[in-house]
Amino acid sequence: MIRPDASPDQTEGQPGLFQAALSGLCPRCSKPTVFEAPARIALKCDACELDYSELERGARWAGLLTILIAVLLISAAIGIDMALQPPFWLQAVFWSVITITAVLGGLRLYKTALLYAAYDAKLEQEKSGE
Ligand SMILES: [Zn+2]
Repeated sequence: MIRPDASPDQTEGQPGLFQAALSGLCPRCSKPTVFEAPARIALKCDACELDYSELERGARWAGLLTILIAVLLISAAIGIDMALQPPFWLQAVFWSVITITAVLGGLRLYKTALLYAAYDAKLEQEKSGE
């Protein structure tokens, strides 16, 4: 299943964080196994058995991040409403799409960043332990 053209060899550096968050790429094998639901991290990588649950430490802050995004979006919604006064149906459609995208995107980006940081720290630890 390994196609040399599919993923350029990246011995240093990792795939970009946005790319990783978008596709849910495993920090070890770069397979899209991280997310088992749109914003929930799987217990482990299906491809290389990397234990995600151990790496996902800051996840308790995810709720706070969701609230923060919601507050920002509501402020933006009020601002746009006062400035442009668009029809209600347009706002309803627009903001549902924006909210879902922003919350899911934000959570994925946040969780992926944490996972990659934790994975890096773990590698460093293993290196210095030997
Ligand atoms: Zn993996």
